[in-house]
Amino acid sequence: MPRALITGITGQDGHYLSEHLLKQGYEVYGLIRGQANPKRPILERTLPDVHIVDGDLLDQASLMNVIQKVQPDEVYNLAAISFVMLSWNQPELTGEITGLGALRVLEAIRLTAGASGSRSKSAAGIKFYQASSSEMFGKVRETPQNENTPFHPRSPYGVAKAYAHYITVNYRESYNIFACSGILFNHESPHRGPEFVTRKITLGAARIKLGVQKELVLGALEPRRDWGYAGDYVRAMHMMMQLPEPDDFVIGTGETHQIKECAQVAFERVGLNWEDYVRSDAQFMRPAEVDLLIADPAKANAKLGWKPEVSFKQLIEMMVDSDLAVEARAQAASA
Ligand code: GDP
Repeated sequence: MPRALITGITGQDGHYLSEHLLKQGYEVYGLIRGQANPKRPILERTLPDVHIVDGDLLDQASLMNVIQKVQPDEVYNLAAISFVMLSWNQPELTGEITGLGALRVLEAIRLTAGASGSRSKSAAGIKFYQASSSEMFGKVRETPQNENTPFHPRSPYGVAKAYAHYITVNYRESYNIFACSGILFNHESPHRGPEFVTRKITLGAARIKLGVQKELVLGALEPRRDWGYAGDYVRAMHMMMQLPEPDDFVIGTGETHQIKECAQVAFERVGLNWEDYVRSDAQFMRPAEVDLLIADPAKANAKLGWKPEVSFKQLIEMMVDSDLAVEARAQAASA
């Protein structure tokens, strides 16, 4: 039975990737940080088949211990400080976890394999996936963005992800590690954190519909993103790891939409007009903005045979429907 180790197991992508790999017959191990991590009981409840292992992306030795213990065939590095806005408040921590964290996982693979007396597979035998991000394109140099588009990150998060991407490529070239980088454009789902704009909007629309919220305050409404469904994107991660040679891929839908279109679709789903409830406020605006992202996923299409199955409208409606149910349950429980 193949073994996969996932860092960032408690996040949105950790959830969908675990489900996907379990269905494919993998034994799945999830890295958890901290003894009293409040997300641990949630993980134990929602994904009882995932084996939890303790470790921290800030702690090199802990990662080496985990690689030695688990002996994974595939390692998916999904752990990061992933909220762009937070990365300006904690730029150094973002660099440590989102940037250097990837290096530490790669080092754990390389050093564990090289350790004398180790029972580990060779470094070449442990495959590594890095969760790279369209935020690396930032102030885009060309439209749409593909694997050869130069990076111009616009936040400490984007800068840290660019480091992690390049160190992945470098370890592939330096040590012959099977290391892939998936440059994923924004991907959302009912499991998306409520701090991200799509979920903030779908939760807001549901709560306003149910009368527990009066208005929805956002930041900039004009930026454009290429939004896809996380469930579709984790399939691409796994597909990359099955290639004969490691490579980098842009994963996105090839469509772009403004924040306000997202609000429009969400509020329409609950029978309301978004303009009556949404306002824009400087507190949610960023020191530097990424105005336009749109993927050219042609390489993933051709070499992986990957394409997204859920459309933008289906995605937002799925999230609104889920949030209506979540909120209705919360109301019933507190009544
Ligand atoms: P990101 O692309 O990884 O930064 O994903 P987000 O969902 O956090 O933000 C997407 C876009 O929505 C950015 O251009 C934000 O400036 C914009 N945006 C507008 N209002 C909000 C808001 O209230 N919260 C967040 N997170 N983003 C907002």
